[in-house]
Amino acid sequence: MTAVYIHIPFCEHICYYCDFNKVFLEGQPVDQYIDTLLLEMKMRLEERPVENVETIFVGGGTPTTLTPKQLDKLCGGIRELLPYDEATGEFSFEANPGDLSLDKLEVMRQHGVNRLSMGVQSFNQDLLKKIGRIHTVADVYQSVKNAHQVGFENISIDLIFSLPGQTEEDFKDTLSKALALDLPHYSAYSLIVEPKTIFYNLMQKGKLILPGQDAEANMYGYLMDTMAAHGRQQYEISNFCKPGYESRHNITYWANEEYYGFGAGAHGFLGDTRYSNAGPLKKYMTPLEAGELPTFQTKDLGLNEHIEEEMFLGLRRTKGVSISHFKEKFGKDMFDVYHEPINRFVDKGLMQVEGDQVKLSRQGRFLGNVVFRDFLFER
Ligand code: SF4
Repeated sequence: MTAVYIHIPFCEHICYYCDFNKVFLEGQPVDQYIDTLLLEMKMRLEERPVENVETIFVGGGTPTTLTPKQLDKLCGGIRELLPYDEATGEFSFEANPGDLSLDKLEVMRQHGVNRLSMGVQSFNQDLLKKIGRIHTVADVYQSVKNAHQVGFENISIDLIFSLPGQTEEDFKDTLSKALALDLPHYSAYSLIVEPKTIFYNLMQKGKLILPGQDAEANMYGYLMDTMAAHGRQQYEISNFCKPGYESRHNITYWANEEYYGFGAGAHGFLGDTRYSNAGPLKKYMTPLEAGELPTFQTKDLGLNEHIEEEMFLGLRRTKGVSISHFKEKFGKDMFDVYHEPINRFVDKGLMQVEGDQVKLSRQGRFLGNVVFRDFLFER
């Protein structure tokens, strides 16, 4: 399986919780960025050709800040450069609900985009404002309507819970409104306050009041139960879908498989090497304009790092990590390597061994990060 991630770093506003690689759109050389991005794709693919790309994910930033003309250029370039079969592949775009006009959606559809992932976050207008989003709840309904009208059926929405000032009742209300849209896929993440964000600064000053650990755990428990009651299987810690609607692209990451990353600040994983591109626009574009790749860092993974990643990425999936696949991939028995933490977490009820799979229990999903830490060789 070959997956491709493409990064569009522009945003019309900066959300208070966001630590992604992004820049404020106004005054940026967007057309020039698209040209250099396509150039990077061409150069990397010449260096390491690919026969068949199965999933493409355009993320950001906010890819839907591009104009229809810019989207046409980007998507046309992507389709020209990548050997992608529209009949079998998954081509996703991240979208901001406020941006999904019919003309943009039509351009995407014409180029074979077949999945949308919308950053909805909440159905509470006051909370949206409080976290720095500029779209409205009405935009969400209009965007879903527009997407259906243009023929998109594979739509996912992202939600965030444990937001400042959010009550459990409020999250229940958001979830019920999200499910009333009857979409095939939902992602829901608890808020993590990352350094260098507006929320982090507020927290340092004691001005960010979060719901607290108990409320957060209650919201997560309610999320898992409600999704199951609505026929959305949990296939990853934060992801739920109708059967057959898993994000194939994201599964590549959790299965610890290869992917190309293109664009400012994008990461890729090819062979045994993880690489990242320069993040600031100028540092990304200048080398490309001089005919050089904008690689910022490369890291060759040793066997132990591969093994660690296999575990902490794979354990995010509900089905967990396959014991036989582990042996085939690394030539080692998983229990020889991880006898101690697996037994300890099984005894504590946080992990389960079922047939060929080692996985988190329901209880373990609440404490994923605590479990994952113990699968690192050096802590
Ligand atoms: S959360 Fe998304 S839309 Fe908001 S600033 Fe970050 S990348 Fe941009």
